[in-house]
Amino acid sequence: MPLYEYHCEPCNGIFESIRPMREASEAVPCPECSLDAPRIMSSFNAFTFRDGYPRRLPDKGTFWHMGKEVKKRAKRMHWYDHPELTQPKPKPRPTKGAITVAKDRQASQANDLLYRDRWGVDARGFRQPKAAKKRKPARKTIT
Ligand SMILES: [Zn+2]
Repeated sequence: MPLYEYHCEPCNGIFESIRPMREASEAVPCPECSLDAPRIMSSFNAFTFRDGYPRRLPDKGTFWHMGKEVKKRAKRMHWYDHPELTQPKPKPRPTKGAITVAKDRQASQANDLLYRDRWGVDARGFRQPKAAKKRKPARKTIT
């Protein structure tokens, strides 16, 4: 006997029932409220069966994601990854070369800062007003 799906309106639920083909279109009592539920065509193939979608009966309060059971719905998805099913990717360890480059940059920045302080220029090489003020006082002439 084939499997058919039935939708119970008051429970907002879907349940399956194995029935003989000639009785398939007849209503089946719902397993939860035992009211007659009409048959539906198997077209509810959504990711989740909650929040507006009919739920599967019996309902455990879980959601389905790509055929796997999850506790929460995916709020944001990267591609098809559900946060509960995929572990966060480990951060790549910096390579020896990257460390050297970072050290080099740090050293050059420190050097640059020293140079700028010495000459009173900003990062683009323009004189800063603070540096301009530091000029020697004009020599007094005795008359
Ligand atoms: Zn019901």
